[in-house]
Amino acid sequence: MKIFEIREPGEKKKKARALLLFSGGLDSVLAGKVLEEQGVEIVCLTFRSSFFGAREAIKAAAEQGWPLIVADITREQIRIVENPRYGYGRQLNPCIDCHGQMARLAAELLQRYQADFVATGEVLGERPKSQNLQALGLVEKLSGIKGLVLRPLSAKLLAPTLPEEKGLVERDKLLDIRGRSRKRQLELADRYQLKEYLTPAGGCLLTDPGFAARARQLRRWRGALWPEDIELVRAGRAFLEAGAMIVVGRDERENDHLLQTARETDVLITTAGIKGPLAVVRLKAEQGSDDGQKAGIELRLETIFREAVSEAAEAGNQTEPEPVESGAGAEPEKVRCRELRALVTRIQEGRLNPEAAGTGAEEVWVLKNPAIREACLLVIRYSRARHLGRAAAAIIRPGKIFRLEFEKADWEKYLPSKP
Ligand code: SF4
Repeated sequence: MKIFEIREPGEKKKKARALLLFSGGLDSVLAGKVLEEQGVEIVCLTFRSSFFGAREAIKAAAEQGWPLIVADITREQIRIVENPRYGYGRQLNPCIDCHGQMARLAAELLQRYQADFVATGEVLGERPKSQNLQALGLVEKLSGIKGLVLRPLSAKLLAPTLPEEKGLVERDKLLDIRGRSRKRQLELADRYQLKEYLTPAGGCLLTDPGFAARARQLRRWRGALWPEDIELVRAGRAFLEAGAMIVVGRDERENDHLLQTARETDVLITTAGIKGPLAVVRLKAEQGSDDGQKAGIELRLETIFREAVSEAAEAGNQTEPEPVESGAGAEPEKVRCRELRALVTRIQEGRLNPEAAGTGAEEVWVLKNPAIREACLLVIRYSRARHLGRAAAAIIRPGKIFRLEFEKADWEKYLPSKP
């Protein structure tokens, strides 16, 4: 888990402080409001991972003026997606394990942030599988802090928690909301004058059937889910070949995303002398050591996270945060991305004309790989060069760029068939 303090909580000032699991959705905001109303200090904790972001939570916490901590849990979440104890929801979403893990990670942070208990916006019976009485009990069990998980919106329907018994929270002022109807939440939103709020549970890719199918394919292809593979397939159109993954960016936004996501061991391919897409080829056997990989992931997650927060800041919701545990070298990563973008543009505009592939050992090795050839033909197929009789692709590796030419007959099979 990697922690970023968006708005620092500072020293505890009131008699009780809650670490609120905060999605930015209406239920989590209301849970905070109910506690705040009775004098409890709120510190929000939100999570982000390769499967969902923190932008809405950043925005909602800023609107309420609550301190916010963001924890990146990509690695922890992948572990439970791989092996959930309590199974999946409709897709690849192991919600009970995931909620339990979030509560456990929050529990680990209680002392660090001087909080007395964990609060959540869960509502009894709101989601039949993950928020029934048994599931709420399991989440508490998985958290490892029995009696310290308070659900203000349904507390009166549940056994009293330790903060209630100790008098830190008045049970009488907690609520008894049950079920799927949102009526009472909407009334409360009016009462607290909440103008904008999210619908609950939006945005987790694990609940999306298309993404879940793709993640299963990825797991079969690699033998496990890797965060950097997930980021890469999300960046463009992905083709999984026996020994390599090819991801093609079909517009500027996807190309940029690919440049941010590509690692040094990947091969970049684009069209030479003509505007076109960018492809990243990730060879299965070319992933470097475990340590190198971890460092790469940490670095990239931080960059992605910083960019998400910067966008929120630009939208006027947030000031730029300083990470508590910063991964060294985020700036070099950005510079590398900018330089690569400039290089790709120069190749596409014909201002840099790479030499034809020679007979060097690396070139022979790269060219022997069928996925590289396939990726060259795909970038041509997705570019205006597909109408030409002959076109070239540039193959970019660290310190090495070369050019391969193809005849129309080579990429014709990739063209959409005419009706
Ligand atoms: S929807 Fe996604 S993030 Fe939310 S609990 Fe389920 S698996 Fe976790």
